[in-house]
Amino acid sequence: MALTLFDSPDAAPNQKLLEVHARLCGEYGCPIAYFHDLEPLDELVSSLLSHRTKNADSSRAFRQLRAKFPTWDEISTAPVQEIEAAIAPATWPEQKAPRLQEILRAIEEERGVLSLDFLAEMSVKAARAWLERLPGVGPKTSAAVLCFSRLRRRALPVDSHHHRVAARLGLIPKSLPVGPSHAVLEAMLPAEWDAQQVYDNHEVLMLHGQRVCNFNAPACRKCVLLDLCPAGHERVGV
Ligand code: SF4
Repeated sequence: MALTLFDSPDAAPNQKLLEVHARLCGEYGCPIAYFHDLEPLDELVSSLLSHRTKNADSSRAFRQLRAKFPTWDEISTAPVQEIEAAIAPATWPEQKAPRLQEILRAIEEERGVLSLDFLAEMSVKAARAWLERLPGVGPKTSAAVLCFSRLRRRALPVDSHHHRVAARLGLIPKSLPVGPSHAVLEAMLPAEWDAQQVYDNHEVLMLHGQRVCNFNAPACRKCVLLDLCPAGHERVGV
């Protein structure tokens, strides 16, 4: 298979990412509909519960939690065992329940109220820094709160699917962990892109990782990115 402009070591990585984005948007249909319309604090808790948990299970845990404890104050002050029972469908409820209460108490202590609506008034950079001071909150969660919630801000989350596809395509080094890859991949996006375009970029790379470029058996011969992809070339022997 012939090399393309984007295989040249001199090609700017963001040009390759733009081509990847355009092709995957053609495959998956941009703009992608937002899958959540949650308040930012709800999104933070949802994100915490979703860590290493199937979507259906984390959604059930979140619904059970909110059904049993309608206010954040109740969640913050309830016996931890009751929180653990409510979020049992998620993985590691014994770790997530105390962490959730720790986060709520930290927000209330600093802001005096259990809400993250104030983040709308901050720059994305400052809002992410504020969130990442909370216990256990890293770049993926801070980006998820800003991007997926009603705030609809311009922040790029990178999950394991997104990260795997980006590494196989050579957009980031294979040795770069998910956490630091957030800043690297976001810096490659055009500055003029709006929040929807940044969200689309995450979604199409994630969907491609789930549906085509999966962990064990990527379907390289059917992949629309094969001519751009060093890992695909190695796999199909071209
Ligand atoms: S060519 Fe293969 S390794 Fe590369 S992105 Fe496509 S499925 Fe993944």
